[in-house]
Amino acid sequence: MANKTISFAGTEIEPGTSQTIRLPAPNINTQVQFEIPIHVFHGKKTGPKLFIVGTIHGDELNSIEIIRRVHQHISVKKLSGTIITVPVVNVYGLILQSRYMPDRRDLNRSFPGSKKGSLAAQLAHGLIKQVVSQCDYGIDLHTGAIGRLNMPQLRVNLSTPGTREMAQAFNTPVILNAKLRDGSLRQAASELGIPLLVYEGGEALRYNEICIRAGVHGILNVMSHLKMIQTRKKRSHNHKPVISQSSQWVRAPVSGLVQPSSDVIAKPVKKGDLLAHIHDPFLMNKSTEVVAPFAGIVIGQALKPLASQGDALYHIASFEKLAGVSAFIEEYREEIMFR
Ligand SMILES: [Zn+2]
Repeated sequence: MANKTISFAGTEIEPGTSQTIRLPAPNINTQVQFEIPIHVFHGKKTGPKLFIVGTIHGDELNSIEIIRRVHQHISVKKLSGTIITVPVVNVYGLILQSRYMPDRRDLNRSFPGSKKGSLAAQLAHGLIKQVVSQCDYGIDLHTGAIGRLNMPQLRVNLSTPGTREMAQAFNTPVILNAKLRDGSLRQAASELGIPLLVYEGGEALRYNEICIRAGVHGILNVMSHLKMIQTRKKRSHNHKPVISQSSQWVRAPVSGLVQPSSDVIAKPVKKGDLLAHIHDPFLMNKSTEVVAPFAGIVIGQALKPLASQGDALYHIASFEKLAGVSAFIEEYREEIMFR
């Protein structure tokens, strides 16, 4: 069916056209006016409205590159529905190369925000009002923190109807049914009844090619699932993404220098498997072993060799049937790299 002209943040957009709208962002202390560019692709045919946001944490750069590549796949003449992208939500953090806002608040703990609240609250409120609440579905792109590598994974709240199907369509080998965090965009979207996928891959302040490709493929898979673009070629194998109901960080039992036993990211581990040794920097005490406390897939890893006792080292997700997940990961890795 032919689409209608929409009004978006006060701008009229005709079907089969795209526009960039510059939303004013709250002023900082120097009274400099910032803008948040929003891209609206309004399809010729009717369909759902999907938003994709990146860099809510200002140093998570993979998300910008994922959105840049997704743009290259969108043809408004062929699109059914509307895609709204915000490559950089936390413009302040991007300048500062920081996860946080200039007032050191975490934007992803400030949703749904308020018009008269802090800088973070105002920005969160603007995003909810102008973008999130205008849409039917959402994808929020993240990476691990500085010095922490995440394998491609989704964090979802399966209690919001439509989320499970969307997450399965995105098709990462690891989907975490993660608890909602207070003030996160995921929580705010869930309260509005909007299915939202949080995609995590790679590390802050770096590009990671596998994680970028996995994000692009996942988003295109979701668009295809929502019938916004043509159906994408089916995978050649039969593995289905498996949902993990729990994950836990393995912490440093002692302080010291961490030497990983092997490359374990995205690999299965059994209970008792050696993950790393922690050496005494002054070479006086014996080294200590770090072992997997339960079986699972290593979905995140601290990269810095320095650790204080209690620091998070390895993030392990547990699954009911581990063998299927690790077979999927191997095929997925090849498909993402060679497609
Ligand atoms: Zn993040």
